[in-house]
Amino acid sequence: MRILYASPEVVPFSKTGGLADVAGSLPVEIARAGHQVVVAAPLHQTVDRAGSGVAASGKTALVPVAGRMEPAEIFEAPLAGAPAGSYVVLIGSPRYFDRKGIYGDAGGDYPDNAERFAFFSRAVLEAAKAVGFRPDIVHGNDWQTGPAFPHLKRTYAFDPFFSGVRAVFTIHNIGYQGLFDPGTMETLMLPWELYHYQALEFWGKVSFLKAGIVFADAVTTVSPRYAREIRTEEFGCGLQGVLEEKRDRVFGFLNGADYTKWDPATDRLIAKNYSAANMSGKAGCKADLQAAFGLPVSDVPVIGMVSRLADHKGFGLIADAGAKIASLRCQLVVLGIGDRKYRDCLSALKDKRPDQVGLSLTFDDALAHKIEAGSDVFLMPSRYEPCGLNQMYSLRYGTIPIVHAVGGLDDAVEDYDPKTGNGTGFKFGEYAPDALIGAVKRALNVYRNKTAWEALVKRAMACDFSWTASARKYVELYERLHKA
Ligand code: ADP
Repeated sequence: MRILYASPEVVPFSKTGGLADVAGSLPVEIARAGHQVVVAAPLHQTVDRAGSGVAASGKTALVPVAGRMEPAEIFEAPLAGAPAGSYVVLIGSPRYFDRKGIYGDAGGDYPDNAERFAFFSRAVLEAAKAVGFRPDIVHGNDWQTGPAFPHLKRTYAFDPFFSGVRAVFTIHNIGYQGLFDPGTMETLMLPWELYHYQALEFWGKVSFLKAGIVFADAVTTVSPRYAREIRTEEFGCGLQGVLEEKRDRVFGFLNGADYTKWDPATDRLIAKNYSAANMSGKAGCKADLQAAFGLPVSDVPVIGMVSRLADHKGFGLIADAGAKIASLRCQLVVLGIGDRKYRDCLSALKDKRPDQVGLSLTFDDALAHKIEAGSDVFLMPSRYEPCGLNQMYSLRYGTIPIVHAVGGLDDAVEDYDPKTGNGTGFKFGEYAPDALIGAVKRALNVYRNKTAWEALVKRAMACDFSWTASARKYVELYERLHKA
């Protein structure tokens, strides 16, 4: 099969979060399974062109957007790790993508994001034509690609280039919907009849996410539990009805972890390599991490966090429980960028307990690896978590996850049972500071028992979340749709 895979961010070209990791790994696995994949992404200003082999193709597509024909300059790059025939198409547009940020800057989201991603969604389809890649499947990700789906099913419905194509749309986080003013219908150049509650309209706005959900042949999300959760009022962010109606075409496939990048045995960004068979390097990673954050180098348990500083990542709980956690015999190390209120609250915590709290308010991939390797425990108290990747990385690094039992956190971590010794981490069910503190205390108690802790670490490191199994599920879905 030929698969056109569209994402607004793709590792190694661009990244703000987990979507980029997924888009950098899943297509490679699908290609390795014998399919031809073209990954389409914007050529953001931040792309390291020389470092990732980006070259101008000399081809241009003209993309109808906001009543104009907007040129998209097509660049190509290898899809590293994939067999020949699969590659990356990067869509260049000085007007829309030659900017410092991917979605915004310090002042917030770019005000023309509706137009930027209306352009991108349609440019993906036009670029496929320009490079002569006729897909069997178009697979888009998140609201930034949503408008491609009504275009595919309406604008291009009778276009022989796309005849027989099937459409898959993946929701990585239903909290981000791409909601814009009704006038956006004109920007999209879609007919006003689609401004309707069973199509793009959502409470007086145009919803890019809903466009993807409604017009795709199948909707996937990134863990089995999240696929169930988003059909409920609590987690559906208003789209639960649409998803419930489509429930026989909504699937949850757990994301994989890319162990070529996230494995302590081979990771070049950490102080010392180690593996389940030889753990001696982990102590060196811990000392290196403590030094990097200016903390005393000692054997106290280190609790790590790498996360966007956002409400849904559980920083409300950290704001309430942080002081209590920092008063326990441990160190807390946090790496993250995001909301000002959480930056302030974490800075205040660090000022109060400089010997126990390490903080870096940056986006730093190397430091993220150091935290995975050097921490003893990894904290993910997300209010909701579609999949989450860091809990899977943590397991591989023998860094025991403490998680709120939701979405992919619940699917990937098994709660530790002190009686049987089974389990791979610590879960708490209620989204409340005391529940979080209780889980931290349980973890720190087990940490004191060296034999039990070592056995727990071994079990965690034996977990396998490689992409191969997930990729197989996507391929099976593509095949089912293709045959239907
Ligand atoms: P989300 O996509 O919701 O942000 P995920 O857990 O799925 O959350 O993925 C987050 C990814 O981004 C992980 O690879 C994590 O290591 C990385 N990440 C998040 N914040 C930072 C940061 N400040 N510096 C470096 N990497 C980060």
